[in-house]
Amino acid sequence: GREWHLVSRPEGFPAPENFALREGPVAAPGEGEILVRNLHLSVDPYMRGRMNDVKSYVPPFQLDEPMTGGAVGIVVASEAEGFAPGDHVLHDLGWREFATLKARYATKVSPELAPLSSYLGVLGMPGLTAYAGLLEVASFRKGDAVFVSGAAGAVGSEVGQIARLKGASRVIGSAGSDEKVRLLMEEYGFDAAFNYKSGSVAGQLKEAAPNGIDVYFDNVGGDHLEAAISALNVHGRVAVCGMIAQYNATEPPPAPRNLALVIGKRLRLQGLLVMDHADLMPKFFEEVSAWIRSGELKYRETVVEGVEYAADAFLGLLKGENTGKMIVTLGD
Ligand code: NDP
Repeated sequence: GREWHLVSRPEGFPAPENFALREGPVAAPGEGEILVRNLHLSVDPYMRGRMNDVKSYVPPFQLDEPMTGGAVGIVVASEAEGFAPGDHVLHDLGWREFATLKARYATKVSPELAPLSSYLGVLGMPGLTAYAGLLEVASFRKGDAVFVSGAAGAVGSEVGQIARLKGASRVIGSAGSDEKVRLLMEEYGFDAAFNYKSGSVAGQLKEAAPNGIDVYFDNVGGDHLEAAISALNVHGRVAVCGMIAQYNATEPPPAPRNLALVIGKRLRLQGLLVMDHADLMPKFFEEVSAWIRSGELKYRETVVEGVEYAADAFLGLLKGENTGKMIVTLGD
């Protein structure tokens, strides 16, 4: 089967030459293992961090080895109890066509309950990030005014809609194109939205939130975080989820320059890692899938077809070519 290797470490923005699609072995499953044919692969911003050779909460990708990441596939051979050919599973050996893994590292998923790709997005890791980050880390309360950056992406679009459904007084989003801004307003029910490329973030946020904000869900960092710190009301809370504006930076970011405001406003900024919130998964899944069924929560996916385009999909994600979750589909 074909598999993607990292062949050199990117400096700054990654390039296609950093990646290579190579033929790899397809191992027959041993005791307790399953062989999976992948159907959908996930490409995610955190993978950029794994391309650097630095110590982090996930170990770096090794050069000339297959990269890993979320995937949904179909079991084609099983030596594990409780798993049979034809079962669908979610697992972490993405970036390849075939994966052999211990069944205990796979989670069965049902295509009857939800489209398979949604287990990588709206009902999967990014969705749980949105749910846990807003409700637990940012301690969202009914009546809060919420600002989320990266608002047309997988995590951000769900943050904004959960906030609306949970009774936010105002939901504000920022995104990188006028088309995305329109989507936030017209389809996701945001109260205000702006294109961060068409003016200063601070100025546009001030206009969108005349009474300030109580919660900022940060996917971007930099001048977005600085603008949010200025706009936050006393006792405001920030869920620090991601800082994509600096993932490809070669210099430390200049913003935020106004951190001292945290003191007088008694702000709370708290980092979040989705894996700390696995206990919320059942509640999250139940609540969000009900909203999807009722049509109260909407989602988009940007689907790239063919394993040979996985690296392009990843590069596209970093450039904002996606609306909602970026998925690489290998076909059924
Ligand atoms: P998205 O679907 O939001 O895709 C990434 C988006 O980032 C792009 O579509 C683009 O949208 C935007 N972007 C790219 N560069 C910039 C920039 N310089 N400034 C502002 N926006 C930019 O990805 P996810 O929903 O998967 O992830 C969103 C964030 O959440 C990321 O920061 C990610 O690292 C983080 N995350 C953190 C987790 C955790 O456990 N802490 C778990 C999952 C995700 P646009 O067109 O609007 O620029």
